[in-house]
Amino acid sequence: MQSTAVGGWREGKLYIGGIWREAEAGAVAPVTDPGSGETIGRMAAAAATDAAAAVAAAAAAFPGWAATPAPERAAALRRVARLLAERREEIAAVMTAEQGKPLAEARGEVEMTAEYFLWNAEEARRIYGDTIPASSAGKRLLALRQPVGVTAAITPWNFPASMLGRKLAPALAAGCTAVCKPAAATPLTACAVFACIHDAGLPPGVANLVAGPAGPIGDVFLTDPRVRKISFTGSTAVGKMLMRRAADGMKRVSLELGGHAPFLIFADADLDAAVRGVVASRFRNAGQTCISANRLYVEAQVAEALQERLVAAVRALRVGRGDAPGVDVGPLIDASAVDGAEAQVADAVARGGRVLCGGHRMAGPGSFFEPTVIAGTPTDALVARQETFGPVIPLWTFGDEAEAVRRANDTAYGLAAYVYTRDLARAIRVTEALEYGIVGVNDPVPTVVQAPFGGVKESGMGREGGYEGVRGFLETKFVSIGI
Ligand code: ADP
Repeated sequence: MQSTAVGGWREGKLYIGGIWREAEAGAVAPVTDPGSGETIGRMAAAAATDAAAAVAAAAAAFPGWAATPAPERAAALRRVARLLAERREEIAAVMTAEQGKPLAEARGEVEMTAEYFLWNAEEARRIYGDTIPASSAGKRLLALRQPVGVTAAITPWNFPASMLGRKLAPALAAGCTAVCKPAAATPLTACAVFACIHDAGLPPGVANLVAGPAGPIGDVFLTDPRVRKISFTGSTAVGKMLMRRAADGMKRVSLELGGHAPFLIFADADLDAAVRGVVASRFRNAGQTCISANRLYVEAQVAEALQERLVAAVRALRVGRGDAPGVDVGPLIDASAVDGAEAQVADAVARGGRVLCGGHRMAGPGSFFEPTVIAGTPTDALVARQETFGPVIPLWTFGDEAEAVRRANDTAYGLAAYVYTRDLARAIRVTEALEYGIVGVNDPVPTVVQAPFGGVKESGMGREGGYEGVRGFLETKFVSIGI
């Protein structure tokens, strides 16, 4: 990693005001390979003083960046995109090493991160205001779109590069400056992304990176009045806490929180496509995806056929280290994630559920869990209620469309839902009735940079991606001019 060269990619540093540096107090935190449980690197661990320094750097850089003509901001973001694409292999290798996902998925994520920078570079040049018809001849009315100011981005470990891109790229496109805090498990991928930002020549302070204990860093984001927006992806519990506390500073928040996606398969669906869809949605990233299928509902008359094909497909998945060739499912992020999957399966079985395949943690080093399908679980089981961040899917049958929709909506979450049917009218009816921010119709992977991503209900608020992504970093200023 060119810019963090001292110590190589295994020695992550903070990036503040355009300088790579250790934490002021010299603290570091280990970084672990979930495929082996071994320590593979370390990251400088910021304290509140480091976070405050990063906010100060972002605040100092803000007026200059906000005033930089949009085409210049766009050119800088395009350079970041180009470097990300050029360094795809090395960044993917870092990601797989600390996060565990199969290399092919890591490569795809780096490409998507580059796409976020590219798309938002283009969008930077389309930040339009309005002219508004006045009520009198002696006035002219304008609405300007201006950057909100310093923004803080808090990102999770499941998509350690693309979540940064999804928050950082639109913020910078809008003319905001940013301080990013990656998850403790995946700081080195963030360093690799920031190395591209540094080498692309973004002015010092425009984008800053502070990793470390979440509490003190979060406190700085929440209490420093210069931070005008917090964009967060993570658990609903932390999102609610951030929103409550952000209210004291009247800071904007955008929150992409947990999900519990239903996956509805109607009898008229292409069952093979549906099986491929379930596998792609549930087992990608070992099921550690907020839009991942968490509950599978199959129309009764095709349930047996679907179940048979699904179990065969899940049994065929190859589990292993993300850097091993041909692996479909990597390790979970850590041992407690394995405990979580195990607890959900044990609870399902204790309540009468049947494990159709998988169901166990795997022996040996690393945090692996077998890809699992469960049937016959009561609807109050943990797996039916609690977000499953692992390769486990429960299956139920339904009688008719109304029941399918009712059960799909019977959750506090509202991020993503999936419908498989070849009946267009049904697809439209069901899509409109689903209380979710994202619906995949015969599509298990609905995330693209140009479309709005986000949830309703306890899955959060605000949209990232698409033009709405940039809007989230813009303030409207109304100007009334007497002439
Ligand atoms: P997950 O279960 O996916 O790890 P979390 O909500 O715990 O979800 O973490 C998502 C991100 O939020 C991580 O970067 C984490 O460090 C951060 N985070 C967790 N707790 C806090 C907090 N109190 N203040 C600020 N950020 C936090």
